Amino acid sequence: MSRKPIFAANWKMNKGPSEAEDFVKSILSKIQNQPFSCDVVIAPAYIALPKAAEALNNHHGIAIAAQNCSQFDSGAYTGEVSVVMLRELLVHYVILGHSERRAIYGETDEVINAKLKKAREANLRPIFCIGETLQEREAGKLESVLRTQITEGLKGLSEKDMTETVVAYEPVWAIGTGVTATSEQAQEAHAFVRSVIADIYGPETAAKVRIQYGGSVKPNNAAELMACPDIDGALIGGASLDPQSFLDIIHNGTVEK
Ligand code: PEP
Repeated sequence: MSRKPIFAANWKMNKGPSEAEDFVKSILSKIQNQPFSCDVVIAPAYIALPKAAEALNNHHGIAIAAQNCSQFDSGAYTGEVSVVMLRELLVHYVILGHSERRAIYGETDEVINAKLKKAREANLRPIFCIGETLQEREAGKLESVLRTQITEGLKGLSEKDMTETVVAYEPVWAIGTGVTATSEQAQEAHAFVRSVIADIYGPETAAKVRIQYGGSVKPNNAAELMACPDIDGALIGGASLDPQSFLDIIHNGTVEK
């Protein structure tokens, strides 16, 4: 089963509207209308989404993601942004369950599940992040942590929702640390994630789901990680802030399997 790789840039709380615009213009001038053979997504901060969309000018090779969304439709939720608002901004993906949202903002599996459902109601494609801390890995809890995050996070989502969802396996100890999982560690975790999805949705659906790796992906380690059979692209933080570095990851990581 061949799955189209997907590379997504998570800018976190970096780049305002003008920097987002500069980034998009720089990427477009570097690729010179050459099509990508993978899916490419950028996730600017909410406030930079309109400028990024405008600069992309309907370029079909690059899609836009939000870094979060509300689990509610509208109303008294100060500081929140709804999925309908995101759709109006030409957003097609939304990152949910990122470890920073879990750790800093206390997002539980239940909240993440509500957000995933809300995103799917609006036909947004979730990039659903899961991953263990170093402490959990060292305590031998890798599989139980991942199984719980997957089972609870995806509760009530249909088979179609699952195939429209991209899973990002991001070991927390590798995010922003410069420490990358070895390709063996990453492949092992990805195969396990796919097996849990197969337990819930069956092997055919599981074989279609794209599972990204995230955690200190750089131009010089992308090829080795992406060559693993169950790794279908990357979610990239720090190294996606520079257009050339992001492009190098995409090029180096788009490997024949
Ligand atoms: C991330 O934030 O999802 C991430 C993977 O960050 P970094 O690439 O900087 O480790």
